[in-house]
Amino acid sequence: MMTTLGSASAPPGEFDTGRLEVGEARDGSTVGLPVAVLNGAADGKTLYVQAVSDGDELNGLGVINRLVPQLDPEEVAGQILFVGIVNYHGFQVAEHRNPIDDTKMNRAYPGDANGTSSERIAAATFEAAKRADLVVDLHQGRTSRMIDEVRVRCGPRHRLHRECLELAKVFGTGYVLDQKGPDGQLARAAPDEGIPTIDPELGGAVGWDEESIRIGVEGMFRVLRYYSFLDGDVERDLQTRASGFDQYGSPAGGLVTYEVDLGERVSRGDVLFEVTDAFGTLKARVTADNEGIFWRSRRLPQVATGEYVCSVGTDVDQF
Ligand SMILES: [Zn+2]
Repeated sequence: MMTTLGSASAPPGEFDTGRLEVGEARDGSTVGLPVAVLNGAADGKTLYVQAVSDGDELNGLGVINRLVPQLDPEEVAGQILFVGIVNYHGFQVAEHRNPIDDTKMNRAYPGDANGTSSERIAAATFEAAKRADLVVDLHQGRTSRMIDEVRVRCGPRHRLHRECLELAKVFGTGYVLDQKGPDGQLARAAPDEGIPTIDPELGGAVGWDEESIRIGVEGMFRVLRYYSFLDGDVERDLQTRASGFDQYGSPAGGLVTYEVDLGERVSRGDVLFEVTDAFGTLKARVTADNEGIFWRSRRLPQVATGEYVCSVGTDVDQF
């Protein structure tokens, strides 16, 4: 049986790249997302992998870019469907949102084939995702600084929660955020179709972060082995899970200095950051409301009053 996605089509034991058409650009040229299919020589499950749903999140593309040349279709059981760049228009201009309709792609799922630009791209990629037994939607903490973690977005009461958590544990970055996500996320829409889905958040960077990409490639190999696409055993290490997520804004305008490092445990009352003026005079000192793990922080030091500064993962346990 051929495996086909857009213009990519491969018989068993082969790999092919192509384009998945999602309409036309403003100049009338065809917009085709870069896609690939890997059709394993043996039968098995189907895995769907996508990256750059948010147009400035490039680490996931780095993972696909490094992973694919290491895969031999002759040694794979099952098939892998790749969409290398989902947010085509955002990627072209290195912006987070799709500039055609100013929409965050990961709020547009399951999409609408007759809708806005983002809804059409979401619908086309969701059609591909629905063919899979497992979905991996590669993201990162935008261009901020963030630990490498995996998000389970279906929520703890979803019928697929256990399967999604298992997939997150297999991917194995060491940290999991297990919290129901906003409507329109692929990691919400695909579990509703009965497909275990994770949203690996591979650090945060401007451009490519080689360490986060390495962690992502390792995670993909663990998924491929655990679900029998590839031979080999997988050690499932204990993951640190946060079920809550406190976000901190700045009480004053100025320059932020952090008092804790990414991944560090914080207790209630610990100083997270200070805000000073241009000449070093202290304007504000912000402490943790709850205990947890210092998860994410803005990259640029300058902040306005109320502007986002950092996040702490809370309600932490291990599984
Ligand atoms: Zn994202």
